[in-house]
Amino acid sequence: MVIISESKASRYSGYSKTQFRYGMTYVVITFVVLLILNIYCSQTCQELFYESKKTSMVEKCLLASDEIGKLEVLNPTTVAQAVSQMESLKVTRLIVTDTSGSALFDSAGEAAGTYVLFPEILTAMEGNDVCSWKYHDGTVDTRAAAPIDYSGTMVGCVYITEYDTVQGGLIQSMQRTVLRISLLLEAVVILFTILFSFTFSRRLNRIMTSMRIIQEGDYTHKVNMGGNDELTILGNEFNDLTERLKNSEEKRSRFVSDASHELKTPLASIKLLADSILQYDMDLETVREFVGDIGDEAERLNRMTAKLLSLTRAEDAASQESEIIYMAPTVRRVARMLKQNALQSKVSFQLDLDSDTPILILEDDLYQIVFNLMENGIKYNQPGGILSVRLYREEDNAVLQVSDTGAGIPEDALSHIFERFYRVDKARSRATGGSGLGLSIVRTIVQRNRGEIQVYSVLGQGSTFTVTFPAFDAEVDKT
Ligand code: ADP
Repeated sequence: MVIISESKASRYSGYSKTQFRYGMTYVVITFVVLLILNIYCSQTCQELFYESKKTSMVEKCLLASDEIGKLEVLNPTTVAQAVSQMESLKVTRLIVTDTSGSALFDSAGEAAGTYVLFPEILTAMEGNDVCSWKYHDGTVDTRAAAPIDYSGTMVGCVYITEYDTVQGGLIQSMQRTVLRISLLLEAVVILFTILFSFTFSRRLNRIMTSMRIIQEGDYTHKVNMGGNDELTILGNEFNDLTERLKNSEEKRSRFVSDASHELKTPLASIKLLADSILQYDMDLETVREFVGDIGDEAERLNRMTAKLLSLTRAEDAASQESEIIYMAPTVRRVARMLKQNALQSKVSFQLDLDSDTPILILEDDLYQIVFNLMENGIKYNQPGGILSVRLYREEDNAVLQVSDTGAGIPEDALSHIFERFYRVDKARSRATGGSGLGLSIVRTIVQRNRGEIQVYSVLGQGSTFTVTFPAFDAEVDKT
C-alpha cells in the first residue's frame, strides 16, 4: 500500500488550481472577445442605418432650402406658406432661420422669434450642408441643416429633425439578439471549460499519483490514461520510463548480488587459508604454500574488481567522440601483449589483416574487444593449438573474426556466455584466472558502437567469434 503524504497531496491540489486559473483565463478571454463583438455589431448596425438615413435627410433639407430660396421676401408668413406646400417632406420638426439665427418658422411652434443656435444651424450658416444623429432608448434622432441660397447670397438656413422609432426598434432588437447569442456562447464556454478542467485535472492527477507510487519503489505500477491525446502519449512515455527504470533496477540488484557472490569465493578462500595458518602448527614450507595461495586469491580478486570496473564503465559510458581507425594496428598490439601467454600455452598466432576497413570507434574500446577475445582464444585453446585473427569486409561492414582450435563451447551454453559471471567450466575458468566478465564487457562495448557479435562453436574443434561494425566509408555514403 502506498501512502501519499499530506504535503504531496496538497501539491496535487495545486495542479487543479493551475487548471482552474487556465480555465478562468479562457472564460475571461472569450468574455472580452464577445464584448468587443457586441460593441462592434451594435456600432456597425447603427452606422448602417445612419448612412441610409443621412442621404434622405440631406435631400429633404436641400429640397426645403430650394423651395424657400425661391421666395422674394423671407418672413414668417411667406415661409409658413411655403412650408405648408411641402407636404411630402414628412419630418418631425422644421425650423427656418434668417442669417442671424433667429427662427422665422418652427413647425413645433416653440422657437419662433427666438435665436436657435444649434450646432447644425451654425455649420449651415457657414455655407455647408450638415447631418448628425443620435441613438437613444430605441429612437434614432437625426438632424440636418442646409443654407438657403437666394441669387448666390445666403439668406438663412433650414433645420430639420426626425425621430425614427421604427429603425431605433430594429437596432434595439438586433443588439438584444447579439447579446443573447453572446451570453449563450459564454455559458457554453464556461460549461466546457469546467468540464475540460475537471477531466484534465483528474487525468493529470492520475499521473501525479503514479509518480508518487513509483517514487515509493513500486516499479510494477502502470498508469492508464485512456483517450487518444497528448496526455495519453505522456502516460505511455511514463510507463516506458517506469519499465526502463524497473529493468535497470533489476539489473543493478542482480549485478550487486552476482558481484558479491563472486567476490565472496576468493575472500572465503583467503580467510580459510589465513585461519589454517593461525590455528595449525605448520612447517615453514606449508606456510609458504598457503601464503602463496592467499596471494593468488588476492590476485584473482584484483583482476575481478578491475574487470567489474571496466564493465561498469562500459555500461555507463555516455556516447563519446569516436575516431576513424583501422583495426589491424590494434590487433597487432594485442598480439604483442599476449605473446608471452601464447608461448606459455603453446598456442601460435595466425594473423590475416590485409583486408582492413576503417570504422568509427574509440581505440580503447577496440582494444578491450580484441584483447578479451584473443585472451580467451589462448586460455581455452589446447597446447599446439592455433589462434587466428582475420579482418575482412562484407558489404557495408568491417568484420573482425577470432577463431581458436580449443575445446569449443557446448550448444546449451552458447546463449549464456555473454551473461555476467557465466562460465562454462567453472574449475577451468577459475584455474585460468577467468572471472566470467570478459565476454559481457565485449558485448556491451560492441553494442555501444553499433556493432554485432556472433559465436560459432563446435565441441572439440574450436570456437569462432565474429564482430561486425558498420564500415566508416559506407556510413559516410549514407549521410
Ligand atoms: P572468463 O573470464 O571466464 O573467460 P568470459 O566472459 O570471457 O569469462 O567467458 C565466459 C565463458 O565462456 C568462459 O568461462 C568460457 O567457459 C567460455 N568461453 C569464452 N571464450 C571461449 C573460447 N574461445 N573457447 C571456449 N570457451 C570459451
